[in-house]
Amino acid sequence: MATLTFLGAVEGVTGSMHLLKSRTATVLLDCGLFQGGRKVEALNLQDFSFSIDDIDAVVLSHAHLDHSGRLPLLVRKGYRGPIYMTSATCDLIDIMLKDAASLQMRDAEWENKRRQRAGKDPVEPLYTLDDVEQTLRLCQGVDYNTNTQVAQDIMLTLHEAGHILGSSIVELVVSDTSPSRKLVFSGDLGNAQAALLRDPAYIKDANVVLMESTYGDREHRSMQATLDEFEEVITTASADGGNILIPSFAVGRTQEIIFRLGELYQKGKLPQQLICLDSPMAIAVTEIYHRYQDVYNREDKARIENDSSSDTKYKQKSLHTFLPPLRYAVSTEESVALNRVDRGAIIIAGSGMCNGGRIRHHLKHNLWRRHSHVVFVGYQAVGTPGRKLVDGAKRIRMAGESIAVNAQIHTLGGFSAHASQSQLIDWFSHFTAPRPRLFLVHGEDTAKQGLKKALSERDIHAAIPVEVQTIEI
Ligand code: ZN
Repeated sequence: MATLTFLGAVEGVTGSMHLLKSRTATVLLDCGLFQGGRKVEALNLQDFSFSIDDIDAVVLSHAHLDHSGRLPLLVRKGYRGPIYMTSATCDLIDIMLKDAASLQMRDAEWENKRRQRAGKDPVEPLYTLDDVEQTLRLCQGVDYNTNTQVAQDIMLTLHEAGHILGSSIVELVVSDTSPSRKLVFSGDLGNAQAALLRDPAYIKDANVVLMESTYGDREHRSMQATLDEFEEVITTASADGGNILIPSFAVGRTQEIIFRLGELYQKGKLPQQLICLDSPMAIAVTEIYHRYQDVYNREDKARIENDSSSDTKYKQKSLHTFLPPLRYAVSTEESVALNRVDRGAIIIAGSGMCNGGRIRHHLKHNLWRRHSHVVFVGYQAVGTPGRKLVDGAKRIRMAGESIAVNAQIHTLGGFSAHASQSQLIDWFSHFTAPRPRLFLVHGEDTAKQGLKKALSERDIHAAIPVEVQTIEI
């Protein structure tokens, strides 16, 4: 009998990790980083609760760090087997894990200066760039909808999840006994209203399903209402002559915003002449999106290919040709030069919650101006500068200075990259009878309870597992 143990993103949304054991093999599903404050992040320092030597293969659902961010730690501790994921995910984690390692090395360096002054022993970073390089050598890209034997008696198939580029729903068939059994892990399921990617794939049968529940108790604002509001901000800012700042996450959200601005441009409704993506990481990710345009949904791909621009600079139609005023600020000098632009620009920069990255400098130079606009397009966690601005702070510390907040702050609710409650229920409803056993993971308790209740009203029973619980498949 095969078993599954819930090891992370069980009582929260980070640190995604599950362990599948058959009679003959062991497969680790995701190896995510715990994120969100000191207490939660201390969990990353704990030893893995399984023997690394027992792992035959690792399967990664998608590139976000809360699913991939402990892979280099697994390798640092001795893992040398294959790590399966889509090819786009391989390319994305190359950027994301290197960025994570650089931050950890920098944090350890700062901490060690402090510890040295206090006469304490130095600490090691969680992992280094060398660990990431070694991890990347173990990664194997597989195509969607293709069977791959990942261990004895365990077959893997990845399906499109529509969450970020390369994201997948993981299907694992265990055939160490007859009949074989199927585990389906939703990974993070995309929002069907989002641009560029196709909707999450429906799967018909399974014995056990693990489903994410990030927005299990909520519906999204409609995309049309969100886009109408976005257009209104752009028109107002153009009339007032102010800049628009969009703090944005590098993967997924940035590319969606570029596409939405492109739609307005193509309709002649984007007066701004300068749109700048000011984030080396988001620029690198956008280039990866260009490389995998084949996975865009048919309608959005057609719109990009049939745009009205005649720019011959680019060989291929892409988000660049769809939004010709788009410029990249790669160097620090290019970023700093934007401080002198006091009107008519749209600046997209990280980090999405304003707690790091180049957006802090743009906020410092624009927040005090009455005609500036800040447009939040993603979730703002409690305690972050982004959340303070959304909550109406009149003054904020930014890049070492206290800045008056005179700018107009907008929150656009419809751009989520996760499925809403009704979309989650719809996805699960496509499993045919007999219905698989359903376990809700990757959600705060209220989200899971809300989803469980909504499912039970449709006669679907869902279980909420606890950390380290083991079930039979
Ligand atoms: Zn994700």
